[in-house]
Amino acid sequence: MSIHIDPYEEAKKQLRATIEILGLSEDVYEALAVPERVVQVKIPVRMDDGSVKVFIGWRSQHNSALGPYKGGVRYHPNVTMNEVIALSMWMTWKCSLAGLPYGGGKGGVRVDPKRLSFRELERLSRGYFAAIADLVGEDLDIPAPDVYTDSQVMAWYLDEYYRVKRGQYFGVVTGKPFDLGGLIARIYSTGLGVAITARELAKKILGGVEGASVAVQGFGNVGYYAAKFLEEMGASVVAVSDSKGGIFKASGLNIEEVKAVKDKTGSVINYDKADRRVSNEELLELKVDILVPSALENVITEYNARNIKAKLVVEGANGPTTTEAERMLTEMGVIVAPDILANAGGVIMSHIEWVNNRMGGWVTEEEARRKLEERMMNSIQTTWNFWESKLDKNRHNLRVAAYAVSVDRVVRAMKLRGWI
Ligand code: NAD
Repeated sequence: MSIHIDPYEEAKKQLRATIEILGLSEDVYEALAVPERVVQVKIPVRMDDGSVKVFIGWRSQHNSALGPYKGGVRYHPNVTMNEVIALSMWMTWKCSLAGLPYGGGKGGVRVDPKRLSFRELERLSRGYFAAIADLVGEDLDIPAPDVYTDSQVMAWYLDEYYRVKRGQYFGVVTGKPFDLGGLIARIYSTGLGVAITARELAKKILGGVEGASVAVQGFGNVGYYAAKFLEEMGASVVAVSDSKGGIFKASGLNIEEVKAVKDKTGSVINYDKADRRVSNEELLELKVDILVPSALENVITEYNARNIKAKLVVEGANGPTTTEAERMLTEMGVIVAPDILANAGGVIMSHIEWVNNRMGGWVTEEEARRKLEERMMNSIQTTWNFWESKLDKNRHNLRVAAYAVSVDRVVRAMKLRGWI
Protein backbone atom coordinates (compact mmCIF):
# COMPACT_ATOMS: atom_id res chain seq x y z
CA MET A 1 0.00 0.00 0.00
CA SER A 2 1.53 3.31 -1.06
CA ILE A 3 0.27 6.35 0.85
CA HIS A 4 0.49 10.01 0.01
CA ILE A 5 2.80 12.01 2.22
CA ASP A 6 4.10 15.51 1.43
CA PRO A 7 7.82 14.84 0.99
CA TYR A 8 8.81 18.38 2.01
CA GLU A 9 6.96 17.99 5.32
CA GLU A 10 8.76 14.66 5.85
CA ALA A 11 12.10 16.24 5.03
CA LYS A 12 11.49 19.05 7.51
CA LYS A 13 10.50 16.54 10.22
CA GLN A 14 13.74 14.66 9.71
CA LEU A 15 15.70 17.91 9.87
CA ARG A 16 13.90 19.00 13.04
CA ALA A 17 14.71 15.68 14.76
CA THR A 18 18.37 15.95 13.79
CA ILE A 19 18.64 19.54 14.98
CA GLU A 20 17.27 18.41 18.35
CA ILE A 21 19.71 15.50 18.60
CA LEU A 22 22.65 17.75 17.76
CA GLY A 23 21.41 20.31 20.27
CA LEU A 24 21.33 23.09 17.65
CA SER A 25 19.18 26.21 17.79
CA GLU A 26 15.91 27.09 16.09
CA ASP A 27 17.85 29.57 13.89
CA VAL A 28 19.82 26.71 12.40
CA TYR A 29 16.60 24.83 11.69
CA GLU A 30 15.14 27.92 9.97
CA ALA A 31 18.32 28.40 7.96
CA LEU A 32 18.15 24.84 6.64
CA ALA A 33 14.41 24.21 6.33
CA VAL A 34 13.99 26.78 3.55
CA PRO A 35 15.79 26.32 0.21
CA GLU A 36 18.06 29.12 -0.95
CA ARG A 37 16.24 29.45 -4.25
CA VAL A 38 13.36 27.76 -6.07
CA VAL A 39 12.49 28.80 -9.59
CA GLN A 40 9.49 27.83 -11.62
CA VAL A 41 9.81 27.98 -15.38
CA LYS A 42 7.37 27.79 -18.21
CA ILE A 43 8.43 25.56 -21.10
CA PRO A 44 6.40 26.02 -24.30
CA VAL A 45 7.06 23.07 -26.63
CA ARG A 46 6.21 22.88 -30.33
CA MET A 47 4.62 19.45 -30.70
CA ASP A 48 5.04 17.30 -33.79
CA ASP A 49 1.49 18.13 -34.94
CA GLY A 50 2.28 21.88 -34.97
CA SER A 51 0.46 22.79 -31.76
CA VAL A 52 2.21 24.37 -28.77
CA LYS A 53 1.95 22.76 -25.33
CA VAL A 54 3.07 24.45 -22.15
CA PHE A 55 4.90 22.47 -19.44
CA ILE A 56 5.94 23.62 -15.98
CA GLY A 57 9.33 22.90 -14.46
CA TRP A 58 11.25 23.73 -11.28
CA ARG A 59 14.79 23.88 -10.01
CA SER A 60 15.31 23.95 -6.29
CA GLN A 61 18.69 24.98 -4.89
CA HIS A 62 18.60 24.01 -1.25
CA ASN A 63 21.99 24.80 0.23
CA SER A 64 25.37 25.81 -1.19
CA ALA A 65 27.51 25.98 1.96
CA LEU A 66 29.66 23.02 0.87
CA GLY A 67 29.87 23.88 -2.83
CA PRO A 68 27.82 24.13 -6.02
CA TYR A 69 24.33 22.60 -5.95
CA LYS A 70 24.16 19.05 -7.27
CA GLY A 71 21.15 16.93 -8.12
CA GLY A 72 19.12 15.27 -10.83
CA VAL A 73 16.16 16.37 -12.90
CA ARG A 74 12.98 14.29 -12.75
CA TYR A 75 10.38 14.12 -15.54
CA HIS A 76 7.12 12.83 -14.11
CA PRO A 77 3.41 13.69 -14.51
CA ASN A 78 2.96 14.01 -10.73
CA VAL A 79 6.04 16.07 -9.87
CA THR A 80 5.27 18.91 -7.46
CA MET A 81 7.31 21.85 -6.29
CA ASN A 82 7.37 20.48 -2.74
CA GLU A 83 8.70 17.15 -3.97
CA VAL A 84 11.50 18.94 -5.84
CA ILE A 85 12.36 20.99 -2.73
CA ALA A 86 12.43 17.87 -0.53
CA LEU A 87 14.64 16.05 -3.02
CA SER A 88 17.03 19.02 -3.13
CA MET A 89 17.27 18.96 0.67
CA TRP A 90 18.00 15.22 0.65
CA MET A 91 20.74 15.91 -1.92
CA THR A 92 22.34 18.38 0.50
CA TRP A 93 22.54 15.64 3.13
CA LYS A 94 23.61 12.95 0.65
CA CYS A 95 26.49 15.03 -0.75
CA SER A 96 27.57 16.09 2.71
CA LEU A 97 27.55 12.55 4.11
CA ALA A 98 29.61 11.33 1.14
CA GLY A 99 32.15 14.09 1.84
CA LEU A 100 31.66 15.71 -1.58
CA PRO A 101 32.24 19.43 -2.22
CA TYR A 102 28.60 19.91 -3.26
CA GLY A 103 25.41 21.41 -1.95
CA GLY A 104 21.98 20.05 -2.79
CA GLY A 105 19.80 20.79 -5.80
CA LYS A 106 17.03 19.08 -7.72
CA GLY A 107 14.91 19.73 -10.78
CA GLY A 108 11.59 18.50 -12.03
CA VAL A 109 9.31 18.91 -15.02
CA ARG A 110 5.64 17.96 -14.84
CA VAL A 111 5.32 15.79 -17.92
CA ASP A 112 4.63 12.20 -18.88
CA PRO A 113 7.68 11.58 -21.08
CA LYS A 114 6.20 8.32 -22.39
CA ARG A 115 3.62 10.42 -24.27
CA LEU A 116 6.23 12.51 -26.10
CA SER A 117 8.05 11.61 -29.29
CA PHE A 118 11.85 11.61 -29.29
CA ARG A 119 11.97 15.07 -30.92
CA GLU A 120 9.32 16.49 -28.57
CA LEU A 121 11.40 15.21 -25.65
CA GLU A 122 14.45 16.94 -27.12
CA ARG A 123 12.59 20.26 -27.50
CA LEU A 124 11.24 19.99 -23.95
CA SER A 125 14.71 19.23 -22.56
CA ARG A 126 16.34 22.09 -24.44
CA GLY A 127 13.52 24.43 -23.40
CA TYR A 128 13.91 23.51 -19.74
CA PHE A 129 17.67 23.92 -19.77
CA ALA A 130 17.57 27.22 -21.65
CA ALA A 131 15.08 28.48 -19.06
CA ILE A 132 17.41 27.65 -16.14
CA ALA A 133 20.71 28.29 -17.97
CA ASP A 134 21.57 31.38 -15.91
CA LEU A 135 21.18 29.43 -12.67
CA VAL A 136 23.32 26.40 -13.55
CA GLY A 137 27.00 26.02 -14.37
CA GLU A 138 30.10 23.97 -13.54
CA ASP A 139 30.69 26.10 -10.43
CA LEU A 140 27.08 26.89 -9.66
CA ASP A 141 24.64 24.02 -10.07
CA ILE A 142 25.26 20.70 -11.80
CA PRO A 143 22.18 18.68 -12.85
CA ALA A 144 22.18 14.94 -13.58
CA PRO A 145 19.65 12.23 -14.53
CA ASP A 146 16.85 11.15 -12.21
CA VAL A 147 13.54 9.37 -12.80
CA TYR A 148 12.79 9.27 -16.56
CA THR A 149 15.79 11.34 -17.61
CA ASP A 150 18.89 9.65 -18.98
CA SER A 151 22.25 10.27 -20.63
CA GLN A 152 20.57 11.40 -23.87
CA VAL A 153 18.69 14.11 -21.98
CA MET A 154 22.02 15.17 -20.40
CA ALA A 155 23.55 15.39 -23.90
CA TRP A 156 20.78 17.81 -24.96
CA TYR A 157 21.28 19.85 -21.77
CA LEU A 158 25.01 20.05 -22.44
CA ASP A 159 24.48 21.14 -26.02
CA GLU A 160 21.81 23.68 -25.12
CA TYR A 161 24.18 25.18 -22.56
CA TYR A 162 26.83 25.41 -25.28
CA ARG A 163 24.38 27.27 -27.53
CA VAL A 164 23.33 29.70 -24.82
CA LYS A 165 26.73 30.28 -23.18
CA ARG A 166 29.02 29.77 -26.18
CA GLY A 167 31.40 27.52 -24.24
CA GLN A 168 32.12 23.80 -24.02
CA TYR A 169 31.49 23.35 -20.32
CA PHE A 170 31.44 19.58 -19.98
CA GLY A 171 31.15 19.77 -16.20
CA VAL A 172 27.75 21.51 -16.31
CA VAL A 173 25.90 18.18 -16.15
CA THR A 174 26.90 14.65 -15.14
CA GLY A 175 25.56 11.27 -16.18
CA LYS A 176 26.46 12.16 -19.77
CA PRO A 177 27.03 9.59 -22.54
CA PHE A 178 30.59 8.23 -22.68
CA ASP A 179 31.32 10.07 -25.95
CA LEU A 180 30.49 13.39 -24.31
CA GLY A 181 32.63 13.04 -21.22
CA GLY A 182 30.53 10.55 -19.24
CA LEU A 183 31.89 7.50 -17.42
CA ILE A 184 31.08 3.87 -18.21
CA ALA A 185 30.78 3.13 -14.50
CA ARG A 186 28.02 5.72 -13.96
CA ILE A 187 25.36 3.31 -15.21
CA TYR A 188 25.91 0.81 -12.39
CA SER A 189 27.33 3.10 -9.70
CA THR A 190 24.17 3.49 -7.58
CA GLY A 191 23.45 -0.26 -7.60
CA LEU A 192 27.08 -1.02 -6.77
CA GLY A 193 26.95 1.42 -3.84
CA VAL A 194 23.75 -0.23 -2.59
CA ALA A 195 25.42 -3.66 -2.77
CA ILE A 196 28.53 -2.39 -0.96
CA THR A 197 26.31 -0.96 1.80
CA ALA A 198 24.47 -4.27 2.13
CA ARG A 199 27.76 -6.19 2.20
CA GLU A 200 29.35 -3.99 4.87
CA LEU A 201 26.31 -3.94 7.13
CA ALA A 202 25.77 -7.68 6.64
CA LYS A 203 29.33 -8.19 7.94
CA LYS A 204 28.35 -6.34 11.10
CA ILE A 205 24.96 -7.88 11.80
CA LEU A 206 24.58 -11.09 9.78
CA GLY A 207 28.10 -12.46 9.89
CA GLY A 208 28.65 -11.67 6.21
CA VAL A 209 26.79 -11.30 2.94
CA GLU A 210 27.84 -14.70 1.58
CA GLY A 211 24.82 -16.98 1.60
CA ALA A 212 22.49 -14.25 2.88
CA SER A 213 19.05 -14.28 1.22
CA VAL A 214 17.99 -11.08 -0.51
CA ALA A 215 14.74 -9.67 -1.95
CA VAL A 216 14.94 -6.68 -4.31
CA GLN A 217 11.88 -4.59 -5.11
CA GLY A 218 12.24 -2.83 -8.48
CA PHE A 219 14.39 -4.25 -11.26
CA GLY A 220 15.38 -0.98 -12.94
CA ASN A 221 18.75 0.71 -12.93
CA VAL A 222 19.27 0.58 -9.17
CA GLY A 223 17.53 -2.73 -8.42
CA TYR A 224 19.06 -4.73 -11.25
CA TYR A 225 22.64 -3.67 -10.55
CA ALA A 226 22.19 -4.05 -6.78
CA ALA A 227 20.93 -7.61 -7.37
CA LYS A 228 23.73 -8.35 -9.83
CA PHE A 229 26.51 -7.14 -7.52
CA LEU A 230 24.99 -8.85 -4.48
CA GLU A 231 24.88 -12.12 -6.44
CA GLU A 232 28.56 -11.58 -7.36
CA MET A 233 29.34 -11.00 -3.68
CA GLY A 234 27.92 -14.42 -2.83
CA ALA A 235 24.42 -13.51 -1.64
CA SER A 236 21.42 -15.48 -2.79
CA VAL A 237 18.89 -13.18 -4.48
CA VAL A 238 15.66 -15.10 -3.99
CA ALA A 239 13.13 -12.51 -5.16
CA VAL A 240 12.96 -9.53 -7.54
CA SER A 241 10.06 -7.49 -8.92
CA ASP A 242 9.02 -4.72 -11.26
CA SER A 243 5.79 -2.76 -11.74
CA LYS A 244 4.02 -5.88 -13.07
CA GLY A 245 4.86 -8.10 -10.05
CA GLY A 246 7.62 -10.30 -8.70
CA ILE A 247 9.16 -13.77 -8.74
CA PHE A 248 10.57 -16.00 -6.00
CA LYS A 249 13.03 -18.88 -6.11
CA ALA A 250 14.15 -20.39 -2.80
CA SER A 251 17.50 -21.61 -4.15
CA GLY A 252 18.33 -18.19 -5.65
CA LEU A 253 17.60 -16.57 -9.01
CA ASN A 254 20.11 -16.25 -11.83
CA ILE A 255 20.11 -12.46 -12.20
CA GLU A 256 21.53 -12.32 -15.73
CA GLU A 257 18.90 -14.78 -16.93
CA VAL A 258 16.13 -12.77 -15.28
CA LYS A 259 17.50 -9.58 -16.88
CA ALA A 260 17.48 -11.22 -20.32
CA VAL A 261 13.81 -12.16 -19.83
CA LYS A 262 12.95 -8.66 -18.60
CA ASP A 263 14.67 -7.10 -21.64
CA LYS A 264 12.92 -9.46 -24.03
CA THR A 265 9.40 -9.51 -22.59
CA GLY A 266 9.18 -6.32 -20.55
CA SER A 267 8.82 -7.95 -17.12
CA VAL A 268 10.58 -10.27 -14.69
CA ILE A 269 7.32 -12.15 -14.12
CA ASN A 270 7.83 -14.01 -17.41
CA TYR A 271 10.91 -15.80 -16.04
CA ASP A 272 9.80 -19.41 -16.01
CA LYS A 273 12.46 -20.97 -13.75
CA ALA A 274 11.09 -19.33 -10.57
CA ASP A 275 9.25 -21.35 -7.91
CA ARG A 276 6.34 -18.91 -7.94
CA ARG A 277 5.18 -15.38 -8.57
CA VAL A 278 4.81 -12.92 -5.70
CA SER A 279 3.10 -9.54 -5.55
CA ASN A 280 5.13 -6.43 -4.71
CA GLU A 281 3.44 -6.37 -1.29
CA GLU A 282 4.35 -10.02 -0.59
CA LEU A 283 7.93 -9.47 -1.69
CA LEU A 284 8.48 -6.90 1.05
CA GLU A 285 7.27 -9.38 3.67
CA LEU A 286 9.29 -12.42 2.54
CA LYS A 287 11.44 -14.26 5.07
CA VAL A 288 14.81 -13.00 3.86
CA ASP A 289 17.92 -11.61 5.53
CA ILE A 290 18.20 -8.45 3.43
CA LEU A 291 15.46 -6.40 1.80
CA VAL A 292 16.38 -3.84 -0.88
CA PRO A 293 13.47 -1.55 -1.85
CA SER A 294 14.66 0.00 -5.12
CA ALA A 295 11.51 1.24 -6.83
CA LEU A 296 9.28 3.81 -5.18
CA GLU A 297 8.90 5.98 -2.11
CA ASN A 298 6.60 5.14 0.84
CA VAL A 299 6.35 1.37 0.28
CA ILE A 300 7.24 0.39 3.85
CA THR A 301 4.58 2.02 5.97
CA GLU A 302 2.89 1.65 9.35
CA TYR A 303 0.55 -0.83 7.64
CA ASN A 304 3.18 -3.43 6.70
CA ALA A 305 6.23 -2.62 8.86
CA ARG A 306 5.26 -5.24 11.46
CA ASN A 307 5.27 -7.92 8.76
CA ILE A 308 8.82 -7.21 7.56
CA LYS A 309 11.01 -10.19 8.36
CA ALA A 310 14.34 -9.00 6.97
CA LYS A 311 16.99 -8.06 9.53
CA LEU A 312 18.53 -5.49 7.25
CA VAL A 313 16.72 -3.06 4.91
CA VAL A 314 18.94 -1.24 2.42
CA GLU A 315 17.20 1.70 0.74
CA GLY A 316 18.06 1.72 -2.95
CA ALA A 317 15.12 4.03 -3.71
CA ASN A 318 14.71 7.50 -2.27
CA GLY A 319 12.31 7.55 0.67
CA PRO A 320 10.88 3.99 0.59
CA THR A 321 10.34 3.89 4.38
CA THR A 322 7.98 6.31 6.13
CA THR A 323 8.96 7.89 9.44
CA GLU A 324 6.33 5.92 11.35
CA ALA A 325 7.37 2.64 9.72
CA GLU A 326 10.98 3.30 10.56
CA ARG A 327 10.08 3.88 14.20
CA MET A 328 8.39 0.47 14.23
CA LEU A 329 11.31 -1.23 12.50
CA THR A 330 13.74 0.25 15.02
CA GLU A 331 11.61 -1.15 17.83
CA MET A 332 11.69 -4.55 16.11
CA GLY A 333 15.50 -4.38 15.89
CA VAL A 334 15.56 -4.11 12.08
CA ILE A 335 18.53 -2.12 10.78
CA VAL A 336 17.67 0.34 7.99
CA ALA A 337 20.50 1.66 5.83
CA PRO A 338 19.04 5.05 4.82
CA ASP A 339 18.82 6.28 1.24
CA ILE A 340 21.22 9.19 1.77
CA LEU A 341 23.87 6.62 2.64
CA ALA A 342 22.94 3.56 0.59
CA ASN A 343 22.15 5.13 -2.78
CA ALA A 344 24.93 7.74 -2.81
CA GLY A 345 26.96 5.76 -5.36
CA GLY A 346 25.43 7.72 -8.24
CA VAL A 347 26.40 11.14 -6.96
CA ILE A 348 29.84 9.90 -5.93
CA MET A 349 30.42 8.70 -9.50
CA SER A 350 29.02 12.01 -10.78
CA HIS A 351 31.69 13.79 -8.78
CA ILE A 352 34.41 11.64 -10.36
CA GLU A 353 32.96 12.50 -13.80
CA TRP A 354 32.84 16.23 -12.97
CA VAL A 355 36.45 16.33 -11.71
CA ASN A 356 37.56 14.44 -14.81
CA ASN A 357 35.70 16.87 -17.12
CA ARG A 358 37.13 19.91 -15.42
CA MET A 359 40.68 18.57 -15.65
CA GLY A 360 40.15 17.62 -19.28
CA GLY A 361 41.56 14.23 -18.27
CA TRP A 362 40.51 10.63 -18.26
CA VAL A 363 39.86 8.03 -15.65
CA THR A 364 39.78 4.28 -16.11
CA GLU A 365 36.76 2.24 -15.10
CA GLU A 366 38.83 0.41 -12.45
CA GLU A 367 40.01 3.70 -10.99
CA ALA A 368 36.45 5.07 -10.86
CA ARG A 369 35.18 1.90 -9.17
CA ARG A 370 37.99 1.94 -6.63
CA LYS A 371 37.25 5.56 -5.71
CA LEU A 372 33.53 4.82 -5.41
CA GLU A 373 34.18 1.85 -3.14
CA GLU A 374 36.57 3.88 -0.97
CA ARG A 375 34.06 6.72 -0.57
CA MET A 376 31.14 4.41 0.20
CA MET A 377 33.16 2.47 2.80
CA ASN A 378 34.14 5.73 4.44
CA SER A 379 30.56 7.01 4.77
CA ILE A 380 29.28 3.62 6.00
CA GLN A 381 31.95 3.44 8.68
CA THR A 382 31.50 7.07 9.77
CA THR A 383 27.73 6.59 10.06
CA TRP A 384 28.11 3.30 11.93
CA ASN A 385 30.66 4.77 14.36
CA PHE A 386 28.43 7.73 15.13
CA TRP A 387 25.49 5.39 15.72
CA GLU A 388 27.49 3.10 18.02
CA SER A 389 29.24 5.78 20.02
CA LYS A 390 26.78 8.67 20.21
CA LEU A 391 23.23 7.32 19.97
CA ASP A 392 20.87 5.08 21.88
CA LYS A 393 20.61 2.17 19.41
CA ASN A 394 17.25 1.08 20.76
CA ARG A 395 15.70 4.45 20.00
CA HIS A 396 17.53 5.59 16.92
CA ASN A 397 18.21 3.93 13.63
CA LEU A 398 21.17 4.49 11.30
CA ARG A 399 19.21 7.26 9.53
CA VAL A 400 19.51 9.48 12.56
CA ALA A 401 23.26 8.89 12.59
CA ALA A 402 23.56 9.61 8.85
CA TYR A 403 21.55 12.82 9.23
CA ALA A 404 23.55 13.92 12.25
CA VAL A 405 26.88 13.46 10.46
CA SER A 406 25.71 15.23 7.31
CA VAL A 407 23.77 18.10 8.89
CA ASP A 408 26.69 18.74 11.24
CA ARG A 409 29.08 19.12 8.30
CA VAL A 410 26.76 21.57 6.52
CA VAL A 411 26.28 23.57 9.72
CA ARG A 412 30.05 23.80 10.23
CA ALA A 413 30.47 25.11 6.67
CA MET A 414 27.68 27.65 7.19
CA LYS A 415 29.31 28.85 10.41
CA LEU A 416 32.70 29.17 8.74
CA ARG A 417 31.12 31.27 6.00
CA GLY A 418 29.41 33.44 8.59
CA TRP A 419 25.89 32.49 7.48
CA ILE A 420 24.74 31.48 10.95
P1 NAD B 1 14.12 2.87 -13.03
O1 NAD B 1 13.03 3.58 -13.72
O2 NAD B 1 15.31 2.42 -13.79
O3 NAD B 1 13.54 1.57 -12.28
C1 NAD B 1 12.42 1.57 -11.47
C2 NAD B 1 11.96 0.13 -11.29
O4 NAD B 1 10.85 0.12 -10.40
C3 NAD B 1 11.46 -0.53 -12.58
O5 NAD B 1 11.88 -1.87 -12.59
C4 NAD B 1 9.95 -0.47 -12.45
O6 NAD B 1 9.30 -1.52 -13.13
C5 NAD B 1 9.81 -0.64 -10.95
N1 NAD B 1 8.51 -0.18 -10.46
C6 NAD B 1 7.77 0.87 -10.87
N2 NAD B 1 6.60 0.91 -10.20
C7 NAD B 1 6.64 -0.13 -9.33
C8 NAD B 1 5.74 -0.63 -8.37
N3 NAD B 1 4.56 -0.05 -8.16
N4 NAD B 1 6.13 -1.71 -7.63
C9 NAD B 1 7.30 -2.30 -7.85
N5 NAD B 1 8.19 -1.89 -8.76
C10 NAD B 1 7.85 -0.82 -9.49
O7 NAD B 1 14.54 3.85 -11.82
P2 NAD B 1 15.89 3.82 -10.98
O8 NAD B 1 16.85 4.79 -11.57
O9 NAD B 1 16.29 2.42 -10.73
O10 NAD B 1 15.38 4.50 -9.63
C11 NAD B 1 14.67 3.76 -8.63
C12 NAD B 1 14.72 4.56 -7.34
O11 NAD B 1 16.07 4.80 -6.96
C13 NAD B 1 14.07 5.96 -7.36
O12 NAD B 1 13.54 6.20 -6.07
C14 NAD B 1 15.25 6.88 -7.60
O13 NAD B 1 15.01 8.21 -7.14
C15 NAD B 1 16.29 6.19 -6.77
N6 NAD B 1 17.67 6.54 -7.12
C16 NAD B 1 18.17 6.30 -8.36
C17 NAD B 1 19.50 6.62 -8.63
C18 NAD B 1 20.13 6.32 -9.95
O14 NAD B 1 21.33 6.59 -10.10
N7 NAD B 1 19.41 5.76 -10.91
C19 NAD B 1 20.31 7.22 -7.64
C20 NAD B 1 19.77 7.44 -6.38
C21 NAD B 1 18.44 7.09 -6.14
